[in-house]
Amino acid sequence: MTKNLKINTMKKVDYIIRADFLLTMEGGLEVIKDGAVAVSGSEIIEAGTFGEISKQHAADRILNGKDKVVFPGLINTHTHAAMVYFRGLADDLPLMEWLQNHIWPAEGKWMNEDFVSDAVELACLEMLKAGVTTYCDHYFFQNAAGKKMEHIGMRGVLGAGVIDFPFTGYAASAEDYFVNAENLIKNWKGHELLTPCVAPHAIYTCGPDNYKRANALSDKYNVPIHTHLAETEFEVAECQKRFGKTPVEYFESIGMLSERLSAAHCVWLTDNEIELLAKRNVGVAHCIESNMKLASGFAPVPKMLKAGVNVALGTDGAASNNDLSILGEMASAAKVHKAVSKDPTVIDGKTVLSMATINGANALGLGDKTGSIKAGKKADLVIADLNSPHLTPIYDIYSHIAYCMRPSDIETVMVNGKILVENGRTTTIDESDTIAKAREWQAKIRG
Ligand SMILES: [Zn+2]
Repeated sequence: MTKNLKINTMKKVDYIIRADFLLTMEGGLEVIKDGAVAVSGSEIIEAGTFGEISKQHAADRILNGKDKVVFPGLINTHTHAAMVYFRGLADDLPLMEWLQNHIWPAEGKWMNEDFVSDAVELACLEMLKAGVTTYCDHYFFQNAAGKKMEHIGMRGVLGAGVIDFPFTGYAASAEDYFVNAENLIKNWKGHELLTPCVAPHAIYTCGPDNYKRANALSDKYNVPIHTHLAETEFEVAECQKRFGKTPVEYFESIGMLSERLSAAHCVWLTDNEIELLAKRNVGVAHCIESNMKLASGFAPVPKMLKAGVNVALGTDGAASNNDLSILGEMASAAKVHKAVSKDPTVIDGKTVLSMATINGANALGLGDKTGSIKAGKKADLVIADLNSPHLTPIYDIYSHIAYCMRPSDIETVMVNGKILVENGRTTTIDESDTIAKAREWQAKIRG
């Protein structure tokens, strides 16, 4: 009788995901040993020890994670996904030369809806297999990107690019960028996976009127706004010359700083600007590998974290990185800032995984949906396999994720309750077809 009563109180869920280590990125960031996550539909129902979860929940499917770790899906807060097709096209050049002589001409020649749709498929394939479940994109033709991401099942923020000058095939005038951005917002606002966003490019390509207009559009529809900011010393010098202010102070003066704003790079900042970013709750997408590759400098991340700035991680586009691995960004960020500050305590494993998960979600205004494993949030999570020489032995699981884990260790990826990577293979993307398409584009681009 007692047994029957007990069975009747069990809640039926779709999945119980069990693992030796569960990192929820909630509370005190404790490691839950022999942990489990109950998932039903798109949502996390509960997370805790397997003992607790299995007493209350019965599942159709138990993913049994012996020698595995479960953590929230990684969040790439700044990329230009379609630029994967320009990976390795031009390397080892200064930012402006790289942009003006190589990237912009290639984009002008090749970019259209088909290019973006095909390239985004390759980007999603790369990111999903590396444990990234959400990314913030800054590009053009975002309706095409959104349709592809919706088909794949990836979560994302679709940033509609805005610049002052025309872009053949996309915008004949600044007005067109805003028409495209507003249409994008109307098309995608309220979508379960995709959030539309306004994305003015940078201070050196977008004047104050267009920044203010982009901000007003973001305010009108309550959608995020995303931009590049204070990336190079050149940008700071130009900003001072034109506006008599450093970039963040200039942004403050034209009313750009708010919690809707996430800003990529923020390499060159004064102490006052760090305070402003903290005070206005601006999310920062720290792109350490892009900054290193383009020799832009080192963002004052330890200072920003100390001041209470919400710092997340981004890969930037594959043409300046050259991959889209947030695991790689974590390892680089955790090491480089130690070397730069000559202080090995500045960013530890827990901090860097927080930057890659919950900070990323908060920076993009998605903190209520993703970024941690918590009842009521969407089921965006990753299972990584720990059976590798480079992950053995295990004394501190955070340390392994920060310093040792590779994309090839990612075994299962779930987004919105749906398994998109199973045993290292994508379920909604035909990997060989995607790579074949990319090679066809490569042949055309190379000419
Ligand atoms: Zn960028």
